[in-house]
Amino acid sequence: MSGIHLHPHDILDEGTDSILNRLAKMGEIDRLFVEVNTIFERNPYPVGNLPHNPVHDVVMGTGTLHVKLDDHQQGALYQRVDPTILEGHDPLMLIKQKTDGTGIKVIPWVNILNGDFAGNLNDNMVVNFHGDPVEHWLCPNAPDVVELWKNTFSRLQQTYGYDTYLIDRIRFPDWAGKSVNPSGLFTCFCPHCQQKMRKQNIDIEKLIATLNQLVILLHQDQYETVVDYLLHDPLIKQWQQFRQQSITHFVSALLHDVNQSNGSLKLWLDLWPPAYSWILGQNYTELTKLSPALKHFPYHKLGGGADVQGLIEFFATAPEQKEIAFKAFLRLFKLPYDISYQQFKQQGFPIAFVKHQNDIVRQHSQPGTFIFSGIQMWNIDPQNLLDAVNAAKLSACDDLLYYCYGWATEELFAAVGQQSRNG
Ligand SMILES: [Zn+2]
Repeated sequence: MSGIHLHPHDILDEGTDSILNRLAKMGEIDRLFVEVNTIFERNPYPVGNLPHNPVHDVVMGTGTLHVKLDDHQQGALYQRVDPTILEGHDPLMLIKQKTDGTGIKVIPWVNILNGDFAGNLNDNMVVNFHGDPVEHWLCPNAPDVVELWKNTFSRLQQTYGYDTYLIDRIRFPDWAGKSVNPSGLFTCFCPHCQQKMRKQNIDIEKLIATLNQLVILLHQDQYETVVDYLLHDPLIKQWQQFRQQSITHFVSALLHDVNQSNGSLKLWLDLWPPAYSWILGQNYTELTKLSPALKHFPYHKLGGGADVQGLIEFFATAPEQKEIAFKAFLRLFKLPYDISYQQFKQQGFPIAFVKHQNDIVRQHSQPGTFIFSGIQMWNIDPQNLLDAVNAAKLSACDDLLYYCYGWATEELFAAVGQQSRNG
């Protein structure tokens, strides 16, 4: 059996009966990962229309909260509530009413460090190496973030009764967003991070000087030199470890605090594929000490979910420079594929990426961790979808988690159903 992601607009626009009927065609879905709060993502991403939504062709995520919680805006920091909730719509409650007592399990899916937050932002936002805040990102070392989510999870559990949640966006920013912004990777230099770095004897002035040097090298097309720094420079390595510790400590503190009064809450992890996770602050070995289950998304057609093209085109202009930049990218992220940038743009990574990344997740995770392989279920043809399903089934993962219901065309639901029936 498998899981699938649902967005609030799926439930509000289509209704739960329509969703459950369409999912039944797949023949194998028994877990619904229902989004509690959106991110600033175009639905579907990055282009196209929602294929079976009767109300909207496209929905822009606005980083808002789509659950009805009492006294949500009490703390120092809070997330803006979506207008549809204020109008009385409650998608998670609608799904709950239809699925309670059935064989379908709902796991609410919560985006933690990225969204439309308000309150004491000045003291809680991620800051890049120029000293500029990174819009819509909260710092894992900031003072009010654990408290925000402790209160939110406690109210979620009281209101909806669920005890297991998938936590996503537990990382530092990547380079994608409204526009490509590589400086998102060179974070966080907020006062709280700086104080913690000093305690670990990280030479912050030298670190910032090194990062500035890397920017100059990138603009001189010295990509391989930058990769050498990112892989081997002792200060950069120390700083990467600091970022990973920051995320691990944040998840650990969150789990501790949410379970202070009632020790039954479980947080499953939504992580980047291991090729990239390390550079965003995610350490599989440490994080899986805290959680029994995780999902990651080895979408081979989409470069593993990373905006590879965005990054290459940001720095390189001439075709030959783009090829050199792409080779450096493959080396940085230990992707052993002998493909050109041109080939990547047309076909993505080879299908081997799916099993390769799932097997690395297994190696790096604590024994017994339940591993969901994310399956790209949009912007892909049925045969490519089935290739990814089969590659995942041959890998060291335990189950599949499709992304996502609202973006998938009818032929993709049918293809999974057909294969499921043929066993
Ligand atoms: Zn910080």
